[in-house]
Amino acid sequence: MLNFRNTSIFFGLLIGVLIILGPLWVVIAALLLYSFLLFLGSYFIQLGFYIRSICSADTKEKVIAFSFDDGPADQYSSEILDTLKQYEVEAAFFCIGKRIPGREKIVMRIMNEGHLIGNHSYSHHFWFDLFSSRRMLEDINQMNDMVRALTGQRPRLFRPPYGVTNPNLSKAIRPGGLTSVGWSIRSLDTVERNEDRLFKKIMKGLRPGAILLFHDTSKTTLSVLPLLIGTIREQGYSIRRLDKMCNLQAYD
Ligand SMILES: [Zn+2]
Repeated sequence: MLNFRNTSIFFGLLIGVLIILGPLWVVIAALLLYSFLLFLGSYFIQLGFYIRSICSADTKEKVIAFSFDDGPADQYSSEILDTLKQYEVEAAFFCIGKRIPGREKIVMRIMNEGHLIGNHSYSHHFWFDLFSSRRMLEDINQMNDMVRALTGQRPRLFRPPYGVTNPNLSKAIRPGGLTSVGWSIRSLDTVERNEDRLFKKIMKGLRPGAILLFHDTSKTTLSVLPLLIGTIREQGYSIRRLDKMCNLQAYD
């Protein structure tokens, strides 16, 4: 299996042998290839290179799940919640802890309207991926404590900031029993301004068990959501809450 441990053992042995036998350029080529694989493993959460992440459900049933990252946000969490309520869709919201103060009502709405609250870290710091495992854990726990103080529930599902995984994150989340959750369809709605393109991108990737990644900060997502929900249902899919679709425990 291509994971961090096996890859490191293989390249450790290979580079050891090459240092003795090979010319220098072959050693450098092997080091570059190893670095490239580490980068791919960090960037593509679906590979499960450092941490096994739930990125879809293993099912043939026509069911998918919506997830929204980076809220609670003044624009457009409430409007997205209104739309989900109108169309009776239960979704997962991976919230950022530092955005909660002053927006507690949005968090309570998420909980009370049947959605799932997941942990997307407290800080969502730009350099989060370079934090030590201890600092990562403190950051994640800070967010979980806030949600528990507010709702009485402590999230178990964690979506890594920027979707980046690495050995420190693996060390940070393993002891706490958190489950890492990725996605199978990335809408890229933080940069995509064109509703039609966003819609087509989602529909093209639709498969049984898919987890869709949106942001409740995206105006494009807010605009396209009614059409998307309608079309997904027309194609015979139901939209289920992520933890229910994947049989995961959402809270402690
Ligand atoms: Zn994020």
